[in-house]
Amino acid sequence: SKAKLFDQNTEVKTSFKDVAGLEGAKEEVQEIVDFLKYPEKYTTLGGKIPKGALLVGPPGTGKTLLAKAVAGEAKVPFFSLSGSDFVEMFVGVGASRVRDLFKQAKEKSPSIIFIDEIDAIGRARGKNAMSGSNDERENTLNQLLTEMDGFGTNTNVIVLAATNRADILDKALMRAGRFDRQIFVDLPDVRERKEIFEVHLRPLKKAENLDLDFLSKQTPGFSGADIANVCNEAALIAARNGKKAVDKQDFLDAVDRIIGGLEKKNKIIT
Ligand code: ATP
Repeated sequence: SKAKLFDQNTEVKTSFKDVAGLEGAKEEVQEIVDFLKYPEKYTTLGGKIPKGALLVGPPGTGKTLLAKAVAGEAKVPFFSLSGSDFVEMFVGVGASRVRDLFKQAKEKSPSIIFIDEIDAIGRARGKNAMSGSNDERENTLNQLLTEMDGFGTNTNVIVLAATNRADILDKALMRAGRFDRQIFVDLPDVRERKEIFEVHLRPLKKAENLDLDFLSKQTPGFSGADIANVCNEAALIAARNGKKAVDKQDFLDAVDRIIGGLEKKNKIIT
């Protein structure tokens, strides 16, 4: 089967309502929504609209969700690809894929390009590693830099990229006119976890005895993705047990199961 070049979504339904917590990050990306919607407001005064921003934070904290919400709020098309797919699937053609991606995004501008796991292509260029795949990665990275530098002030394509390892990125990526803004997306605190539960409980049939404050307290260290998992798992457990609504015990069982899964995952890594 042919590997997909990138995803293109011209009618993004995600909005800021789908993103719980992350108040600071939402405020920062609101500015980007404004740039996309009213570029003239900024350019008439001689300002340059930023070309890129880096979303930095642990896995599952909503970086992809937030990027999509920017596109949804601004009502612009969303082009996305993952850095790891790039390196794994497109051997020999990385640079031309980047060129195609930017070409499409420019044709559909205003638009958003989202690059998940940018560290896979944007790792600092090593002095010693001389393998072929590394050359490939560098060509891809160089093409990305070239494309961003080539944007005119009125291109109106904004590139968002996500990473959980900003420290290992090539500094060239962060230079002025490239990803010169960093937006931090952190793990949720107890209050934010409650808000995330509220979002993911919306589609569920809930029992009366659900206590969100309790659940939020029971889930320290959980990411938004983990909480989404808990809610879905709880619904499946309730269904398996023939219940009419998802209750407190289903949630506790789901939390246990997710914690078990997280522990297993950590064991494999270490
Ligand atoms: P990764 O670094 O692993 O790609 P990410 O930070 O991009 O992760 P997302 O893919 O955006 O995380 O999150 C996965 C899912 O978790 C989302 O689709 C959503 O269902 C849920 N989620 C994560 N964060 C939030 C949040 N702040 N509010 C609501 N849902 C969230």
